[in-house]
Amino acid sequence: MGSSKLPVLLLPHPLILLPTARLMLPISRSLADAILSLLADSDAVLAAIPLPAPDSPSEVTYGTAARIARLVRPRNQSSPTQPYLLSLHGIERIRFPSPIHIDQSDTLPVHTVIYSSSDGIPSRDTVEAFKHAALVLLDRLAKDSLQPQRKDDWLRVAAIVEDISEQRAAWIADVLVAAVSSQYPDKLAFLAATDVEDRLRRAIELFVKQSSIQEVSKKIASAVDESFSRQQKEYFLRQQLAAIQRELQSLQSSSTSVGPGFGTGGPNELDDDDQADADDLADLRCKIEALNVNSEERKVGVREWRRLKRIPQGSVENGVIRSYLEWLTSVPWPSNLTTTPPDVLKDPSFLTRARAQLDADHYGLDQIKRRLMEYLAVVRLRAIADAARTQAQGDTLSTSASLGVTPTPPKKSKGVKGPILLFVGPPGTGKTSLGQSIAKALGRPFQRISLGGVRDEAEIRGHRRTYVASGPGSIVQALRKAGRNDPVILLDEVDKVGHSNFHGDPAAALLEVLDPEQNHSFNDHYINVPIDLSQVLFICTSNTLDTISAPLLDRCEVVELSGYTYDEKMHIAKRFLLPKQICANGLSDSQLTLTDDALLHVATMYTREAGVRSLERAIGAVVRFKAVEWAEWLDKGNGAVEGEGNAKRSGNENEKQDGNTDGNGVGNEWRATVEPHELEKILGIPRWDGEERDREEKRGVVYGLVVTGMGEGGILPVESTALPGTGRLKLTGSLGDVIKESGEIALSWVKTHAFELGITAGRGVDPLKVPDVIDVHLHLPAGAQKKDGPSAGIAMICAFVSLLSGACVPKDIAMTGEITLRGRVTPVGGIRMKVLGAHRAQIRKVILPWANRKDVEHDVALEVRREMQFFFVRTIDEALEAAFGRGALGWRKETVLLESRL
Ligand code: ADP
Repeated sequence: MGSSKLPVLLLPHPLILLPTARLMLPISRSLADAILSLLADSDAVLAAIPLPAPDSPSEVTYGTAARIARLVRPRNQSSPTQPYLLSLHGIERIRFPSPIHIDQSDTLPVHTVIYSSSDGIPSRDTVEAFKHAALVLLDRLAKDSLQPQRKDDWLRVAAIVEDISEQRAAWIADVLVAAVSSQYPDKLAFLAATDVEDRLRRAIELFVKQSSIQEVSKKIASAVDESFSRQQKEYFLRQQLAAIQRELQSLQSSSTSVGPGFGTGGPNELDDDDQADADDLADLRCKIEALNVNSEERKVGVREWRRLKRIPQGSVENGVIRSYLEWLTSVPWPSNLTTTPPDVLKDPSFLTRARAQLDADHYGLDQIKRRLMEYLAVVRLRAIADAARTQAQGDTLSTSASLGVTPTPPKKSKGVKGPILLFVGPPGTGKTSLGQSIAKALGRPFQRISLGGVRDEAEIRGHRRTYVASGPGSIVQALRKAGRNDPVILLDEVDKVGHSNFHGDPAAALLEVLDPEQNHSFNDHYINVPIDLSQVLFICTSNTLDTISAPLLDRCEVVELSGYTYDEKMHIAKRFLLPKQICANGLSDSQLTLTDDALLHVATMYTREAGVRSLERAIGAVVRFKAVEWAEWLDKGNGAVEGEGNAKRSGNENEKQDGNTDGNGVGNEWRATVEPHELEKILGIPRWDGEERDREEKRGVVYGLVVTGMGEGGILPVESTALPGTGRLKLTGSLGDVIKESGEIALSWVKTHAFELGITAGRGVDPLKVPDVIDVHLHLPAGAQKKDGPSAGIAMICAFVSLLSGACVPKDIAMTGEITLRGRVTPVGGIRMKVLGAHRAQIRKVILPWANRKDVEHDVALEVRREMQFFFVRTIDEALEAAFGRGALGWRKETVLLESRL
């Protein structure tokens, strides 16, 4: 540690010269003169001492011995203000023996200075820590530097740092601290650190601090940059859009002003976007203002409106909020109903008019209409009672108010509804149109929501607003379309709604909609404000009751529609379907008629169904065919001669076309009547033709009665055959467990009674083993349709008995009934559908369980009953008697008599 006397140069605040570093600073002329004289007689080293900040103590202790590298003269030496530039090169740390007070002056006072030794070797750990901190900082600096040259420089320094030895660590610390930008106090403290260990530690602190500053400022810079670039991009795009719109507008106005038939070329209302937008917003605002003060919907509306105002127009969020507000304000809340609905229910003639409406829209369905009238009567009475209660409450309120008592608020009306109606029946039996008639009778709007295949709860309840492209559910949509809070909503096909799955539970959502206890505050996920559905009249429809969940069924009153007889279909077709189709296809009654025979032919040969939908479609096809003919006939100039009103009808339905006509009346007089023989040309080959002929009386084959999943009745062949085997029963035809068990029961019963039935020669002999060992194969076509249920029991018994005994069951007999091992025949469901299905299939004899007798008497139309013969049986013995005919089987016992014949 040596000392010497050095001229002292004060570096103006905040300059600091560190050992190894270089510094260039402007100096005054007089100072330059002093330095020049110094250069003449010494080795050009001086003490560069950093001057403290003006407001801090002016004593100095530390500095750097510096060699004068250059002194640059100003270009114009005559100007006294032009400074000299002095370049210094730091050599080593120095300090004064004691702090000295130096004033800024243009002289270089000489002081004794002590050289701080840099000989010490720092510890290995400190050097490692130093290297790590330095490398982190250098890495960051390299990453952040925009110029590639600079980046390379930093990386080169990093390479040096990595390989530096412990002896040289203090030196590289000086180099780095001088190179990285850091704060004045930190640099000063670093300069004062004469101990190498301490110096390295300070360098570490400084690097860490600098790294984090670098990182944060980088983050801020990139965030600012990003937001700027987004805004700029948006601004730029908007400008472009506006320019494009202007161009388009000018193009359009020039083309409309020259183009023919495009108006005057003035401003188009479609172009005036801004105005329309402002109008929409004003409209929305009015709608929010119209909501009931203090209501939940208004609070939400106001809150969203405020958010809307804060968000820039044209942004995605703005659109989302606007569409939400549009939905919110379009829900028919009690407050925004401008017109009070006419009080149809209180009108004394309400029921008479309702009855007339139902009759006008539907033929037959007497029982159902009676049930609907009861329903409407209940709705009416409840409405009247409700109105009376509200009135009484109003009176109490006014009296208590006049007496100065605080009145209790009136109770909310519970809604005027009876149980929820559930129409069950095959397609096309008028379920939807009955719902429409009820709505018409009540003077309410009608909406239909199809639930078939709904698997996602959100389809009923809406998607939450967080969801992209979210929207309200079908209930809210129906309410909006209806525009009133008391529409009739038909929930179509509730049996086909999905149950609990990963999209939620649609059936549970439906339950909430229908449950009178809950539906006064129905929560749609999108609207997210409770909606009162208690005034809505819900009607459900379904094809079957089997798949409807028990809680849902519990809330409904089931009204069954089984299907129509041919006679009813004829009436419906003549009175409703044909006129409707004629009108829909632009013809008039005088231009087209279908004879009764033709209608019956369509119903029996083309559309064998319980309802009338296919019939309507087939009639529509016939009408369209005739409409084309009519148009062609007119085009050939016939209309000009005869005129539409003069179109002659052939009148005589048996009249045959003569050889000259081309069959459609074209070029001849107009033939308005369609007869059965023309139908094949129009509708193609009859679908059901020959089915009866195909039915055969065959050993082992019997006809059973079924109800399909669509709720439609029909007949089903039960086929059995014997084949060499091991005495087993084989069942095919997509059969469920229950129907398979019926097969087993049937075979067991037949085996047990084989001796009595004359199938085997002795008791206890297995007819499948003696005389030959056989398998019995039972098949129910069509193989692709799933079948289940116990009702094929007696048909299976008859098939086995026929197969094993050789006796045949006549082909015009069909049967249904569950069997037990004891030989009882127990009741089954769907009798009405099954009987009607059998009737449609030209079956005239039906074997049914005795306990189903009442179903036939109550539910089956008289005209069908008259045409059919029913055998009600209590036991399998009776069923066999009825099926094979008395005495046909070789009974080895006193046989029972047939118990009933209707
Ligand atoms: P569903 O809803 O049961 O499937 P729809 O109500 O849609 O059947 O009826 C199908 C068509 O049949 C409708 O045009 C309807 O008017 C007509 N229809 C059904 N039953 C009758 C009836 N009893 N009287 C008159 N038209 C009927």
